[in-house]
Amino acid sequence: MNTHDSEKLAGILEELGHRSASDVQSADLILLNTCSIREKAEEKVFSHLGSLRPLKDLRPELIIGLCGCVAQQKGEEIFRRSNLVDFVLGPRAIASLPGILEEVRNRRSRPIDRERRDDSILYDASRARRGPGPRAFITVMEGCNKTCTYCIVPTTRGREVSKPAEDVLREAEALALAGYCELELLGQNVNAYRDGAIHLDGLLRRLQQVEGIRRVRFTTSHPAHLSEEIIRAMRDCPTVCNALHLPAQSGSDAVLERMRRGYTRRRYLDRVERLRRAIPDIGLSTDIIVGYPAETREEFEDTLGLLKEVEFDQVYSFLYSPRPGTDALLQSDGMDRDEKEDRLHELQLLQQEIQRRNNLALVGSVMEVLVDGFSRMGGSFLKGRTATNRVVNFPGEASAMGKFASVRVEAAGPNSLEGRRIEPHRP
Ligand code: SAH
Ligand code: SF4
Repeated sequence: MNTHDSEKLAGILEELGHRSASDVQSADLILLNTCSIREKAEEKVFSHLGSLRPLKDLRPELIIGLCGCVAQQKGEEIFRRSNLVDFVLGPRAIASLPGILEEVRNRRSRPIDRERRDDSILYDASRARRGPGPRAFITVMEGCNKTCTYCIVPTTRGREVSKPAEDVLREAEALALAGYCELELLGQNVNAYRDGAIHLDGLLRRLQQVEGIRRVRFTTSHPAHLSEEIIRAMRDCPTVCNALHLPAQSGSDAVLERMRRGYTRRRYLDRVERLRRAIPDIGLSTDIIVGYPAETREEFEDTLGLLKEVEFDQVYSFLYSPRPGTDALLQSDGMDRDEKEDRLHELQLLQQEIQRRNNLALVGSVMEVLVDGFSRMGGSFLKGRTATNRVVNFPGEASAMGKFASVRVEAAGPNSLEGRRIEPHRP
């Protein structure tokens, strides 16, 4: 979502006649789009700001703006902590960037806009300035009405609001005409998408009619809101990818309750079972928080057990990070940091093994990938994604970019597959 917010900001700047600078030294305007989900992300902002000081000293006319969730959360405090920042802009006030820049240029003040506007959702996704690649994001809903005790998102992103389905379809058509063939629908709690009687399943079904859109993904799904209708839409719609990111956070009922997640381990596993029954080859990923206040060894082992039972294709695991204003701060902890870090490491080792094993089982199979960039392997290797969201590296030429290719898997690591194209690429 943050990446796409940056694309929206860049789109607005381009409409104002700005062009992207070749490097930060030559820029007249620098926007930092920030994340406050964990403390580390927040700290980075201030160290990054510090690194811009020599530039501002050299060219006082340089404008620096702080955007995103740290801007929303800290507001005026940012001006007190750093005299480098010329303006502060919250994530639901992106559309006021032109007016803010005008104000800064007239040097009237150091403006700040943190209003959580409902109409921020109406930003037309086809205006965003995207990087290369065949995939385009559309924010279909913003904000979050849940109250997970550890999470700062409801404070920074505000209440849920959905984009009218008609707008989503129109923007999807424009993106298809512009050459994008994969859409990723974004929302903090995307399963709660609502436009009158149209829910997420209805939106997914309507998107089938958009010519040129060959793949549709959506993120992030909340386990308690993953309805039977959504699962059926995933099964029935050929363009909806067989992949789902379904954050579990923990495998312990006691921790899930302390987190106020609104489901039990049993209910989570039931969702996984239903998904796999409907879509046998579905790729599943999850988020896990390790070291939630007072997490016992037993509770942590329940999480390890969940990973063993589900065998996710990918797990994003984080150390619990205390966030200002959240209810988890009221829960006493008592665990030391080393112990938490050891647990995180243990969990990651286990998951690496699971992924290595699962990926090895795919050696010899043929997979269809959409080529989306050059591989980290370097040389002439390209990188593509399967509909199940697996990364496959294979030798190929730049002309295959943005196209579909069939690749026979020859080797596998925990995080990616490697293979060879078995037929010329198709458009
Ligand atoms: N709306 C999504 C999550 C958005 S935040 C959902 O409900 O699943 C992305 C991930 O960051 C979360 O899934 C969680 O695992 C992690 N996260 C959020 N707050 C955190 C915190 N205080 N400490 C550590 N990880 C956190
Ligand atoms: Fe945060 Fe997700 Fe919970 Fe909302 S549902 S409060 S975004 S973790």
